[in-house]
Amino acid sequence: MLETLGYVIVAGTAVQMVLSLYGTWRRGCLERRSFAAEARLFERRVELSLRRAEAERDLTVNAWSGFRKLKVVRKVREAEDVHSFELTAHNGRSLPRYLPGQFLTFQFRIPGRAKPLVRCYSLSDAPTDGGRYRISVKRVVAPDDAACDPGIVSGYLNDVVREGDILDVRGPTGSFISDPASDQPIVLIAGGIGITPLLSMLNAMCDGQTEREIWLFYGVRNRGQHAFAEHIAGLRQLYPTLHVVTCYSRPTESCVPGRHYDWPGRVDLALLKNALPSTNYVFYLCGPAAMMETLADGLHDWGVPANDIRVEAFGAATVRRQPSERPAPAAEPGVEIRFDRSDKTLTWDGSAGSILALAESNGVALESGCRAGHCGTCVVAVKAGTVDYPAEPAVAPEPGTCLACMAVPRGRLVLDA
Ligand SMILES: Cc1cc2nc3c(=O)[nH]c(=O)nc-3n(C[C@H](O)[C@H](O)[C@H](O)COP(=O)(O)OP(=O)(O)OC[C@H]3O[C@@H](n4cnc5c(N)ncnc54)[C@H](O)[C@@H]3O)c2cc1C
Repeated sequence: MLETLGYVIVAGTAVQMVLSLYGTWRRGCLERRSFAAEARLFERRVELSLRRAEAERDLTVNAWSGFRKLKVVRKVREAEDVHSFELTAHNGRSLPRYLPGQFLTFQFRIPGRAKPLVRCYSLSDAPTDGGRYRISVKRVVAPDDAACDPGIVSGYLNDVVREGDILDVRGPTGSFISDPASDQPIVLIAGGIGITPLLSMLNAMCDGQTEREIWLFYGVRNRGQHAFAEHIAGLRQLYPTLHVVTCYSRPTESCVPGRHYDWPGRVDLALLKNALPSTNYVFYLCGPAAMMETLADGLHDWGVPANDIRVEAFGAATVRRQPSERPAPAAEPGVEIRFDRSDKTLTWDGSAGSILALAESNGVALESGCRAGHCGTCVVAVKAGTVDYPAEPAVAPEPGTCLACMAVPRGRLVLDA
C-alpha cells in the first residue's frame, strides 16, 4: 500500500514537472512568436513609411508640370459602363509614384469640340514601382427625366478610347490621401464610382499583409454596376481584419443576398452605427454629393471629430464644411461682380451657387474643368474685392486669384475675366 502511494506521489510530481516544463516552453514559444509578429509589423511599417517618403520625393523630384503624353496600354471592362485604363509614359520613362487617393488631370481634344476639355480621374490602384497608372471611368448617362446631355468625356473614354491611344495628362495631385503605414482603424465609404480613390487606398494597405482594421462600405445599384467585385471579394478572403459591407440600392432578381451583396438599400448612418463598434476610426468618403453630405453631417453629429472625416467630391456639388469650419458668410444678394475683360457687370443673387455658374448662365465665357476646385482650369485673377469658399477647394488658389467654380463673392468684386 505504502509502495503504491509512493509510486502515485512520484508519478504526480513527474507529471507536474512535465506540465510546468511544457508551460515554460509554450510561454517561450508564444513570446517568441509575438515578438516575431511585432518585428514583422514593425518591418512592414518601416517599409510603408519608406515607400511613402519615396512617393513624396518622387512627386516633387519626378513630377512634371503641364501635360505629358501617356499611352493607354490596357483597357478593361469593370462593370456596366465602367472601364479601367492602364497608362504608361509614351516615351517609356518611368512615372513618379503617387499617394493612394490622388488623381490625374486630363485634357481631351475630342473631334467636333471647339475647345479641349479638362477632367480629373482618381488613380484606382495602389502605386507601383516603375509607375503604371490606372484610372477607372464610369459613363455619365443623362437622367431619364432631365434635359441634360450624357457625359462627354466619360462617354468618349468608354466608347472611343482604345489601347495604344495617347492622352494628355497632368501629374498626380490631391490631398484626399491616406497613409498606408498608419495603423489607425479606417473606414472607407464608397458610393458608385466613388470607389476609385478608396480602392487605391485599400490596395495600398493590403499590398503588404495588413493587420490594420479596415471597413469598406460600398454602395452600388446592383450586380451589373458592382465594379471590382471579384477583386474585393479576394481581399476579403485574404485579410481577416478587412470587413466589407456591400449595399445594393436596387437589387435585381439575379442579385443574391449574402453572395453578391450584404445589405439592401444605401449606405447610411444607421448601417454604420449598427456595424461599427465605436466612432474611433478615420472615415474616408467618396460618392454622390447627396450621400456624402448626409453621411458627413451624420458622422459629425455622432461625435466623429471633423479632422477624422475626409471627403472627395467628383463633381460640381461639393460637401459643405461643418458649421465650426465655415468662413464668414458670403455677400448678401444684390452685390455686383464686374467681369472686366468681358465688359459685363452681373448681380449676385446667391442662386447660381458659384461665380462660374453665374458667369455661364449670363454668357460670360470662363474656362472650366472639374468644377470641384481640383484642376485649376477656372482660376481667375481678382482685381478688387474678396471671395469665400462654402466648401474647401482641394488645391488652395494663389493669393490674388480665385477658383471661379467654387468661389462666391464676399462683397463687390472685380475679376480679370
Ligand atoms: C478629383 C476628381 C476625381 C474624379 N475621379 C473620377 C473617377 O475616378 N471616375 C469617374 O468616372 N469620374 C471621376 N471624376 C468625375 C470626372 O472628372 C467627370 O466629371 C465625369 O467623368 C463626367 O465628365 P463628362 O465629361 O463625361 O460629363 P459632362 O459632359 O461634364 O457632364 C456631366 C453631367 O453634367 C451635366 N452638365 C454638364 N454641364 C452642365 C451645366 N452647365 N449645367 C447643368 N448640367 C450640366 C451633363 O448633362 C451630364 O449629365 C472625378 C472628378 C474629380 C473632380
